[in-house]
Amino acid sequence: MSGLVFIISAPSGSGKSTLVNGLRSNVPGLEFSVSYTTRKPRGVEKQGYEYFYVDRAAFERMIEQHEFLEYADVFGNYYGTARRFLVEAHAHGNDLLLDIDVQGASQLQASLPDAISIFILPPNRAELERRLRCRSEAEHVDGEIINRRLRTAAKEIENYSKYSYILVNDHLQESIDALTAIVLSERRKRSRGELCESERALLAKAEQYLLPNVRERVQPILASFALPESQVVRK
Ligand code: ADP
Ligand code: 5GP
Repeated sequence: MSGLVFIISAPSGSGKSTLVNGLRSNVPGLEFSVSYTTRKPRGVEKQGYEYFYVDRAAFERMIEQHEFLEYADVFGNYYGTARRFLVEAHAHGNDLLLDIDVQGASQLQASLPDAISIFILPPNRAELERRLRCRSEAEHVDGEIINRRLRTAAKEIENYSKYSYILVNDHLQESIDALTAIVLSERRKRSRGELCESERALLAKAEQYLLPNVRERVQPILASFALPESQVVRK
């Protein structure tokens, strides 16, 4: 392990938490930064596992004490990455995985330029809406919250081309395998020695998801959110 930082962003409901859970059970030596948030736990979420749930006053105290690597206001709640997770992952010789929104990702791409960034897209808008509605039964959220997330999704997706890798989360197991290949191949690229055949296959699999290799694949997805390519923000 070499102290790599992986940043994963996606519109809410794309399946990022599901993919990250799959990745964490496949790949050792990968620590997950548990963010702080002022939003309430949903469904079966537990304090300290998905998030540390704090009130606004506690979050604002942490901001004043410079405890965050980055933080942002997402859907009216604060979310932030505590600096100590990066320090601890380095001390353990592990890599660190951050699940953060596009605002947090651009703050970190400036302060940690070697971080490897991955953007997860839903297959299309209708499927994103279906997943949000399905999950809302567990979350007890109303239709207006879902509509707001769909509007935010279109804005977030405009930023996809600021990321190194783009993963369309269509078939779940395929997506978990792809994410695993991306992480393992980034590690392998930084270690020495000749590649064996399985390692070459791993690198080739991960390369399929590099930004220049997915531009065509994402066009119909952008179109389903009514986003012309011309509206997409470049790196
Ligand atoms: P996010 O963390 O991006 O907000 P979740 O991981 O909570 O999203 O997933 C949103 C919903 O979509 C959940 O109900 C989840 O089970 C479902 N889901 C995730 N990935 C897929 C997939 N590839 N196919 C179908 N449903 C999925
Ligand atoms: P959710 O409430 O659905 O778990 O997350 C909402 C959004 O907040 C997601 O886009 C998620 O990536 C983002 N998020 C979670 N933790 C952080 C964080 O620490 N910093 C930032 N900037 N965004 C975060």
